Amino acid sequence: MHKFHGNFTQQEPIPEPAIQRAVEVMRSGRLHRYNVADGEKSETALLEREFADYMGSPYCLACASGGYAMGLALRSFGVAAGEPVLTNAFTLSPVPGAIDSAGGKPVFVETTPDLVMDLEDLEAKIGDSSSRLLLLSHMRGHIVDMGALCKLLDKHNIALIEDCAHTMGASWDGRKSGSFGIAACFSTQTYKHINSGEGGLLISEDSQLMANAVIRSGSYMLYDRHLAVPPPAAFIDARLDNPNQSGRMDNLRAAILRPQLKTLDQSCERWNARYRVIHDVLNIIDGIRMPERNINEYFVGSSIQLLADGLDQEQLPVFIQSCQNRGVELKWFGGIEPVAYTSRHDSWRYVDHQQLPKTDAILDKLCDMRIPLTFSVSDCADIGSIIADEFTRIHRSNLNMKDVTYHDD
Ligand SMILES: *Cc1c(COP(=O)(O)O)cnc(C)c1O
Repeated sequence: MHKFHGNFTQQEPIPEPAIQRAVEVMRSGRLHRYNVADGEKSETALLEREFADYMGSPYCLACASGGYAMGLALRSFGVAAGEPVLTNAFTLSPVPGAIDSAGGKPVFVETTPDLVMDLEDLEAKIGDSSSRLLLLSHMRGHIVDMGALCKLLDKHNIALIEDCAHTMGASWDGRKSGSFGIAACFSTQTYKHINSGEGGLLISEDSQLMANAVIRSGSYMLYDRHLAVPPPAAFIDARLDNPNQSGRMDNLRAAILRPQLKTLDQSCERWNARYRVIHDVLNIIDGIRMPERNINEYFVGSSIQLLADGLDQEQLPVFIQSCQNRGVELKWFGGIEPVAYTSRHDSWRYVDHQQLPKTDAILDKLCDMRIPLTFSVSDCADIGSIIADEFTRIHRSNLNMKDVTYHDD
């Protein structure tokens, strides 16, 4: 049986113009974002302006990580100690971690079989929790019906902060993911859509929130060196009222990111070409269910999810292992112990335990795979057929066993 030899954690190299710019920054010695020569605009400030323009947002702040951007957004919004913050039960650990770092208490909302937030459960939890805020994670790029969500949030006067770690470049009904709430957070960590090793971007149209965030990020009184911040009036109180919680981005990372932003939309198309090939192979396999995408969703297929509905909890690890043996790295969210990046709400033990039966049932069947752009479209066809083969083999053995039991009865 043939084996796939690609590396699931190998991203593309940093583009040559970005490397050149990074070398120039290093030669200059001016790596700190506020260390500028006379009349110079720092790489970090330019990145902020360019990302704000890409998003159609007036303001943007670059910072140390996506997780930091989320915590910062929550603190700049004014989350109080012990305040409940609504969020997805199905997400990755930086999300509840950011709520915790801001002093909030995560209130988890159930997940639908299409891997988006369950709006009925959201409305119920809005009623129960007296929360003022939803931190919505567009987990693995699945975008909930944003029209219905915004209507619901408006009705109950709940603010929205978007976690767009997996939706940079995506949109809903023609409007960019990240433009629906009071703020949105992005990550530029290696496994996201643009790569500076670590990094985060926060956008907002709210001048007070953004002024708070800029001061908190560690701007001292140098916020006038930014190119995507609110007018000075917004800083009069903010500069004295907010603690410095240093988490700036530096010019080296910004230099690496600026050229990548120019090709982001092309990268999204390349991801989607790869995603479609794998999706179409798996979509017709008996026992596998692919989450459905809403027609209004322009997603970025930088990872793919399948629900192995046809396998039980004993067969699932066997399926994952047989794919692994053939060089295909699927991760399973149903394991009791979190492995690699997989994570479940019940393993975040610093949060009060919550009953989430719908999410648990989905995680039990959920398999996840990254699609690095170093894989070609034909690599993806290969990966799809390996997964399909292994699944079908194990699924058939399952059916045969059931047949036997049936006849014995
Ligand atoms: C990666 C990620 C983040 C932010 O992560 P950082 O590593 O801190 O940049 C936030 N939310 C989700 C869902 C993520 O996967």
